[in-house]
Amino acid sequence: MNGAKSRRSGRFRLSLVAPMYNEGEVCDLFFERTLPILEAITPDFEIICVDDGSRDDTVLRLHAAHRRDKRIKVIAFSRNFGKEVALTAGIERATGDAVIPIDADLQDPPELIADLVEKWREGYDSVLAVRTDRSSDGYLKRTTANLFYRVIGRMSDVPIPANAGDFRLLDRVVVDVLRAMPERNRFMKGLYAWAGFRTATVGYVRPVRAAGTTKLRFWKLWNLALEGILSFSTLPLRVWSYVGLAVAFMAGVYGAVIVVRTLIYGVDVPGYASLLVAILFLSGINMIGLGILGEYVGRIFLEVKRRPLYLVGSTLGFDDRPAPVKATDDAP
Ligand code: UDP
Ligand code: MG
Repeated sequence: MNGAKSRRSGRFRLSLVAPMYNEGEVCDLFFERTLPILEAITPDFEIICVDDGSRDDTVLRLHAAHRRDKRIKVIAFSRNFGKEVALTAGIERATGDAVIPIDADLQDPPELIADLVEKWREGYDSVLAVRTDRSSDGYLKRTTANLFYRVIGRMSDVPIPANAGDFRLLDRVVVDVLRAMPERNRFMKGLYAWAGFRTATVGYVRPVRAAGTTKLRFWKLWNLALEGILSFSTLPLRVWSYVGLAVAFMAGVYGAVIVVRTLIYGVDVPGYASLLVAILFLSGINMIGLGILGEYVGRIFLEVKRRPLYLVGSTLGFDDRPAPVKATDDAP
């Protein structure tokens, strides 16, 4: 780890990865706040902005920002692929010794970057920004988030730290591991946790959005939560064997009761209600089991198709690849 040590103590390169979906209202503010902070930390940095198929003027603003400051680089997706995929694309292209995914709405305070870097220089490979207080979230989001972390904490094969979002510092080692992960289902919080390495935390209080509205509405978060649980646990699959066993056992006991009762009291014809209840209950259980199986099979299907994770419409500021399709440096 000699290389890592010298890299951390001397001059190093820092990459910020900011996914943006309809963030036209905040993106200039984001650069205004972030640039001076980065300049104070290291002379060598890049901000990789991933436009996740915005429908507003985000891309135009990003292009203008790139013209003002070449350290701002832009990847524009062909459509909305979701935050996790946008992060993946940014992390793939990041060239820094340390990479920091950060929300563009300034809810991840850029001032904290200095603390993250400091911990990294102490030798940690992964430094998490953990929320010490979630009062900036609504009641519903707070309680559902709590529930989610409790459920996934119980079920997941790797412990996923609660109250830590995507805002964190990743050393090159961790970034390379993430880049090598082939899966299509990108539940980033789980992937970071799976990678492991020496991890430290830094506490912060999450401010409210600087401008604009949330892009992660209920359904997106619900799907993300399902993604998290289903791609980091096989417990939902396994549990059906136990449910089946339990039901079979109960059926056996009930069968014995019926036999004994018939022997003692003779034939008992009425039984329509209990029959119907048993049939409905068991078909309900069957369907739930099938549904869960379907969730996993669907995921296998997605993985097997091996479609690209995302499509890039244009890039700006990366010298390795020419910018294809429309937008170029001279775009308005
Ligand atoms: N985001 C994205 N694609 C999406 C949704 C969100 O890239 O489909 C970005 C968004 O632009 C922001 C970050 O993810 O930079 C966090 O989103 P948001 O602030 O809306 O979520 P919240 O903080 O409300 O959970
Ligand atoms: Mg936000």
